[in-house]
Amino acid sequence: MAVREILVVPDPILKQVSTPVEVVDDALRALMDDMLETMYHAPGIGLAAIQIGVPKQVIVMDLAAKGETPQPRYFVNPKIIWASPESVPYEEGCLSVPEIYDEVERAAQVKIRYLDYHGHEVTELAEGLFSVCIQHEMDHLKGVLFIDYLSRLKRERAVSKVRKLVRVA
Ligand code: ZN
Repeated sequence: MAVREILVVPDPILKQVSTPVEVVDDALRALMDDMLETMYHAPGIGLAAIQIGVPKQVIVMDLAAKGETPQPRYFVNPKIIWASPESVPYEEGCLSVPEIYDEVERAAQVKIRYLDYHGHEVTELAEGLFSVCIQHEMDHLKGVLFIDYLSRLKRERAVSKVRKLVRVA
């Protein structure tokens, strides 16, 4: 496993649309292992492959609270097959938009279908933080960032803040 570099805005790679994975094999599991290690190292609760420059439909996540046993989760080719009509606001952040947080409204619940670490198909109902996080990560697969939901002014301000942050780092 290796920690990879996380791309930050305004890197144009983050706008790329990711393609479906054809087969869940050892090479893909190695990618998922690297993604998980990169996410834990950041630290963050979710990461899409495009954030390390790989345009594949792969997401890793761990929503366990600090001090709890880690609960790594893997989502390959995820699809939303149902979304609740009710939406909820949540203050989101993103490893590709460091130190920026803002409220985004998303479906309160979504039913998702994906392949897991072993390539088995899973259908699951996501609620609460899980629902927010999977919708945020699935947006990455379409080249969409949470700041794309904000006003143009807020978005431009966020990108210039990140530029400054990266310059001094
Ligand atoms: Zn993100």
